Amino acid sequence: MGITRRGFLKATGLAAAGSLTYGLSTQSEAFAFNTERDEWKLVNTEEYTNICCYCSGGCGVICSVRDGELVNLEGDPDHVVNEGTLCPKGATMFQLRNVVDPKTGKMMHNPNRVTSPKVRRPFTSEWVDISWDDAAKEIAAHIKKTRDESFITEENGVTVNYTPAIGSMGGSQLNSEETYLVLKLMRSLGIVALDNQARV
Ligand code: SF4
Repeated sequence: MGITRRGFLKATGLAAAGSLTYGLSTQSEAFAFNTERDEWKLVNTEEYTNICCYCSGGCGVICSVRDGELVNLEGDPDHVVNEGTLCPKGATMFQLRNVVDPKTGKMMHNPNRVTSPKVRRPFTSEWVDISWDDAAKEIAAHIKKTRDESFITEENGVTVNYTPAIGSMGGSQLNSEETYLVLKLMRSLGIVALDNQARV
């Protein structure tokens, strides 16, 4: 059976129109933005710049706040480190504060967020809250006691003045200057087991 050029264009044109009509009629509602129903997510928000809390990369983020509540968090395009991008870990930072309630589907404060220091006492299995002041006092007392009990002044006739009983690990959010001070403090105590994430 022969087919003319006009016939071919007519047939393919009808097929394309048919698929477009089918595609539009079956498009899910999620892809159809309804300006009357939906509110732009950043309307009436204040923006604050911040730094990602996860690693020493220090990527910049923009936090959008409405009525005192964080409603959106995304990479800061003006930040020199990440220029708007965030790695998968940083991109989930919003969930440190807010998560979706699986029962209601609505946003709620993350119930697993730790907001105060905690301590687990000897012979107990539970972590309990402790104030920042008490935590600092207890840590200082433990360091003093452990250092006094373990301090070595001389080895093989050589003055060494160190304790092998205490180590220090720095977190990712300490910047170079803070880490420098931590190292100074540790060395002054005779602590030589030192490490810090991504800092020298
Ligand atoms: S976004 Fe990723 S790479 Fe950037 S600081 Fe956070 S964890 Fe590090």
